[in-house]
Amino acid sequence: MGLKMNDWQVLQIFLSETGVHEVELNSDGKTLRCNCPGSERRAQCKHMRFVRVKMNRNGGIYPCDLSTRASKLDAIAASQDPKVFRQLLIDYGKIEVV
Ligand SMILES: [Zn+2]
Repeated sequence: MGLKMNDWQVLQIFLSETGVHEVELNSDGKTLRCNCPGSERRAQCKHMRFVRVKMNRNGGIYPCDLSTRASKLDAIAASQDPKVFRQLLIDYGKIEVV
C-alpha cells in the first residue's frame, strides 16, 4: 500500500455491542490500533485479536474481504490512498460481527 510514515490504514470494520469500530494498521506493517472503548484501557481488544489471527494465518497480510462489486480499478486506486481505501471498505467490505 502507498502509505507514508506513521500513516494508518483501516483494515477491518466491526459491528459490536459497543458500536461500529475500526481496526487500523500502521505504515510499519505491524502495529494495530482500534477505536473501541476497551482498546484504550488495555491496548488490546477482541477486534485487534481477530485481525491479528487472520494476518498470522495469511503470512502477515490482512486478507481484506471485498465484494466482487468493487472493481479491480477501484481496488488499485484505493490501495494508493488510505482515505479512498477506507471508503471502499465501507462501500464493499465485509463487516465482521464479534
Ligand atoms: Zn476494539
